[in-house]
Amino acid sequence: MSARKMITAALPYANGPVHIGHLAGVYIPADVYARFQRRLGNDVAFICGSDEHGIPITIRAKKEGVIPQDIVDKYHGIIKNSFADLGISFDEYSRTTSKKHYEVSQDFFTTLYNKGKFTEEVAEQYFDEQANEFLADRYIVGTCPNCGNDNAYGDQCEKCGATLSPSELINPKSMLSGNIPILKETKNWYLPLNDYENFLNEWIIEGHKEDWKPNVYGQVKSWLNDGLKPRAMTRDLNWGVPVPLPDADGKVLYVWFDAPIGYISFTQEWAEKNGKNWKDYWQSENSDLIHFIGKDNIVFHCIIFPAMMKAHGDYIMPKNVPAFEFLNLENDKISTSRNWAVWAHEYVEEFPGQQDVLRYALLSSAPETKDNNFTWKDFQTKNNSELVGIFGNFINRVAVLIHKYYDGIVPAGDENAVELNEIAKSATEIENFLENFEFRNALSAMMNLARFGNQYLQTEEPWKTIKDNPEKAASSLFVAAQIAVGLAQVCEPFMPFSAEKLQKMFNVDQISWEQLKQEKVLIKTGHQINNAELLFSKIEDETIEFQIQKLENTKASNKKTNPKANPMKAEIQFDDFTKIDLRTATILTAEKVEKADKLLKFSVDTGVDVRTVVSGVAESFTPEECIGKQVMILLNLAPRKIRGIESQGMLLLTTKPDGKLAFVTPDVPVENGVEIG
Ligand SMILES: [Zn+2]
Repeated sequence: MSARKMITAALPYANGPVHIGHLAGVYIPADVYARFQRRLGNDVAFICGSDEHGIPITIRAKKEGVIPQDIVDKYHGIIKNSFADLGISFDEYSRTTSKKHYEVSQDFFTTLYNKGKFTEEVAEQYFDEQANEFLADRYIVGTCPNCGNDNAYGDQCEKCGATLSPSELINPKSMLSGNIPILKETKNWYLPLNDYENFLNEWIIEGHKEDWKPNVYGQVKSWLNDGLKPRAMTRDLNWGVPVPLPDADGKVLYVWFDAPIGYISFTQEWAEKNGKNWKDYWQSENSDLIHFIGKDNIVFHCIIFPAMMKAHGDYIMPKNVPAFEFLNLENDKISTSRNWAVWAHEYVEEFPGQQDVLRYALLSSAPETKDNNFTWKDFQTKNNSELVGIFGNFINRVAVLIHKYYDGIVPAGDENAVELNEIAKSATEIENFLENFEFRNALSAMMNLARFGNQYLQTEEPWKTIKDNPEKAASSLFVAAQIAVGLAQVCEPFMPFSAEKLQKMFNVDQISWEQLKQEKVLIKTGHQINNAELLFSKIEDETIEFQIQKLENTKASNKKTNPKANPMKAEIQFDDFTKIDLRTATILTAEKVEKADKLLKFSVDTGVDVRTVVSGVAESFTPEECIGKQVMILLNLAPRKIRGIESQGMLLLTTKPDGKLAFVTPDVPVENGVEIG
């Protein structure tokens, strides 16, 4: 009996390309599952799209001097192409900036609002008066109360790793204007998650102890044990889905409110194009909703989104949420900001026609129950020993020998040979593993069929028996041909590109999983096969060395040569730099400032004029040491009064290893007033 499967894969965030960690932990397993469910004859909707809202996108846009839409357009395109190139068979891949998504998510919000499911709360939040914007945590910088780093963010200090809230920062400043933000009251709409604790306990803790993965179940349980709190479902931001209420100017839906609704709105887009009813997938008890996600998204898919759907009232709950752990790269955490990754779009370019190798390698080290590791050496071994040495070798020998001895026509053999049972056995094993989300075991079961075929040929040796026992040789190759076609069928969920080649090679169509389990003879005597095509080719050491070198280069460029150096300040544009007027100058006179231990007062020849500058260098120099020194001056700094003296500019200084200051000075004498830059 066919069932309906509503399969979602976590929406990738459109501020960067997709890497192997995403592929191994979400998209390839989800694709294997979706392909397999289609082969079972089930009614499958496999839905995904780009998540295009949220703070990191607006920050990136500001950094690059573009608008957020430019950022998401760029990465949506790259991500979408990578998925297509790697054979991820989404029925729909859309994006959360689509018109339909705005309608659906606003409608969802309105339904909850009208049903009285939200509470309104007024809280004080930092506000930038000049930019006229409330500031998200990431938009506030200040001094970390923990380590003293001057560039800590309102949510986190990247130097010491402390989690912060904006109110903890010392001297908070707005990243938008550089001004000190004020606290201002703002109203937002909260979903009281605590109201859903009983429901979640009953549904997950009591209902899914046996069938959900322990990592998912355990995390949900610990969240529920800690108790849930109301969570704001709206934000004061200008990038996102506008809150559909009259008194909500400048407010958008919380990105984790609108993103999961993307699964629903994208299903609607797909349904409209394909004459389907989306409600059959989302609002019918005959549908199984399955979310494929990484472990960092468990709370959103097992607590917040289900609470939203429960509050709405019309939706089914997910049947399972098979969350994956993380994949490391060469024993180090994959990181987009450190560029420590293998990027999908680069792989596709550098390994043309070898998509299935990546699919195979990533599936075989999929981080199902614990974090796992990808290494290029391991990738090479999996290709050369398993895909080339076993799978490809077996297929090639079968095809070549049938052409050599029988002109490409499948010879006669025993249709009841016991070896033929291996095909149904493999199909059944794969089915059991996949229904249980055990992708690595399923992949092994597939490879074991190839291994079996390879050993069978090795034992039968038809290239020998053809001379004195041609009937036996024919029978061996008949059996081997069945196994080869069996492989062409069972490998499709895992390696769709190879499956297509194989089916073409053996001149067969794809059949259902049920047929595969029932029919012993998959290719009949007398069937004409096509020429052997190369499935996999050996990956040479130099190819792997190149990839390892690429990572070494990344590591070298990430390396901090001075561990005490502060992190780089926020990026500026060239225009910002050209506003700065730096010149060479010479100190003419120097004297101590009365009652100020640290200050010296200088008269400086800037080439443009002679002016007064006050500088905090008295603990590093005597006035006599300074006279006649050539220095660099920031000429167009607005004058400031220091101890009653107007200081007109700033001399450039740095700190020596002993903590004393030093003037920044040209390494050869130059004229005064020469521009620096
Ligand atoms: Zn810190």
